[in-house]
Amino acid sequence: MNKVLFEKYIDELNLDFGNTDSLLNKIKLCSYLVCCGASIELESYTLNNKDFRTGNAGMQLTVGSPHLRALIPFFYVGKDNPVKLRGSYVTGRAVIEFAGREFFEITVLPDMVTGNENISLEFDTLIAAVPEKPYGIRNCCYRSIGKPCAFCILKKKRVNLGPKDLAAAYGEIAGKTGAEPQVLLTGGNSGRKDRGLLKYIPYVKELRNHFSEVQIAIEAAPPRDVLCLNALIDSGIDTFAANIEFFSAQTKEELLPGKSEIELEEYKQAFAYCQKAHIKTF
Ligand code: SF4
Repeated sequence: MNKVLFEKYIDELNLDFGNTDSLLNKIKLCSYLVCCGASIELESYTLNNKDFRTGNAGMQLTVGSPHLRALIPFFYVGKDNPVKLRGSYVTGRAVIEFAGREFFEITVLPDMVTGNENISLEFDTLIAAVPEKPYGIRNCCYRSIGKPCAFCILKKKRVNLGPKDLAAAYGEIAGKTGAEPQVLLTGGNSGRKDRGLLKYIPYVKELRNHFSEVQIAIEAAPPRDVLCLNALIDSGIDTFAANIEFFSAQTKEELLPGKSEIELEEYKQAFAYCQKAHIKTF
């Protein structure tokens, strides 16, 4: 995104410059951080070795209370951003600045080491974008045909990730935090009838075998045939999430040149099928 667009977004926020640390400003700027990112001047912080897989991998922060929080996607960290986060990663103390003014203080949460660079803990959720086959290539069919979604940052690459790594990371985080995290698995689509759903099954089974209480969500496209959901449901998922992204057909065509092949009706059918099987959906 260029500087002009950032500034247009900020104009629309209609920030209160007379009361920079108002709750409303905090809420508005948290939304901005998630959607547009920030420039970051954080002592002792580096973006090296981060897995830039989707918009939900990023730096996590809270504003006063754990209930007001934001994630700055690693991919949206850039020098041109007029909103700046400045402080120290070591102390976790930082401020949000805009137009030469300090708006409010924030707390930067430390990155939690999961034991695998492709698995991250984002707030209370363990997240991984899994490859087509364990330790294989992670990709999306829309990228392969030159039609990735406009906001997609998932690049074709070999990923050092298999089911046992995920179970180990889950055990590691549960041990460190004293609480069992939720798990969210995602990954690119495939051109097959299942649109890539089957790749999640070994991970779900491995987790379920070791941790009977684990909550597992799959965030993926609906399959071409709802019956493809059966194997995933039987493997032990709790939740099926599918991103429609946009309802407007025109916007879908423009921003999702490949993914717009999925009809709204397919989402509807997949959600209805899951709900009948007592699988939560969103
Ligand atoms: S569906 Fe779109 S956003 Fe998701 S991996 Fe494929 S190209 Fe990227």
